[in-house]
Amino acid sequence: MPQPIESPTDTWNETLHAHFGQHFTMDTLLYRQKTDLQDLIIFENAAFGRVMALDGVVQTTERDEFIYHEMMAHVPLIAHGQAKKVLIIGGGDGGMLREVSRHTGVEQITMVEIDAGVITFCRQYLPRHSAGAFDDPRFTLVIDDGVNFVTGSQEKFDVIISDCTDPIGPGASLFTSDFYQGCARCLNEGGIFVAQNGVCFLQQDEAVNSHRKLSHYFGDVSFYQAAVPTYYGGIMTFAWASQHAALRHLDPEILRQRVAAAGLECRYYNPAIHNGSFALPQYLLNALTA
Ligand code: SAM
Repeated sequence: MPQPIESPTDTWNETLHAHFGQHFTMDTLLYRQKTDLQDLIIFENAAFGRVMALDGVVQTTERDEFIYHEMMAHVPLIAHGQAKKVLIIGGGDGGMLREVSRHTGVEQITMVEIDAGVITFCRQYLPRHSAGAFDDPRFTLVIDDGVNFVTGSQEKFDVIISDCTDPIGPGASLFTSDFYQGCARCLNEGGIFVAQNGVCFLQQDEAVNSHRKLSHYFGDVSFYQAAVPTYYGGIMTFAWASQHAALRHLDPEILRQRVAAAGLECRYYNPAIHNGSFALPQYLLNALTA
């Protein structure tokens, strides 16, 4: 049962970075348990609504989750233009599934989530994230490590979205060459891979490493970006990989037509944001070519 915090000054401190961080007042502790794999906490915060964290790192908040989930779902799906099969790696809170499900042309959505407990508790305590998407008839759930799935599956997908944690704990396997090679193998012709790749100002090495590894398996590798307030420290970079650079440079009119045809009314994503999100800061471009 939710436990009202006696003294609202109780705070939760993020531990992603060693020498600085962000904190949230915990106004109501809704859930805390070590699942078999991760330390899961969900609490109410006056500024961001319900907050979910795994192993001391903010995963998602009710107030700003739409930015991340819209950008990770609609940029690759609109760029692809005719995706039928989508694979979500991770994504246990259901927000990515909710946004992918908005694309009526998609016929099958497979989620490979390592921790069933995350789904169970997010369905209960973050219902607005999934908004019923877990009951979509197109949805199939696989409980497994994402790297096992993509290295062993015989299935092919049009878009693969790695909605993973940071490369610590169980998330580390989703930043390996084996994982990226497996994703390349599991993509159809014209397929697109995207992945959360951290805040590049603070986690630049992660972006450089992903770019280097992905480049062994994909002909066109880059990033796109959006600022998500609770992934603090500047823009979050999303890894982008495909075999055709043209997928990253769509004509604005074609983008506009596809967004209109999809009937997408979003709170962050729009055609101009889509194209503009591929513009990257010079310090990152320099690091990627160093
Ligand atoms: N939006 C968040 C972010 O950007 O950090 C990610 C949120 S989502 C909750 C991350 C999910 O990845 C969690 O449900 C976690 O259980 C899952 N996950 C972590 N490592 C995984 C792995 N190796 N295979 C599949 N799922 C994994």
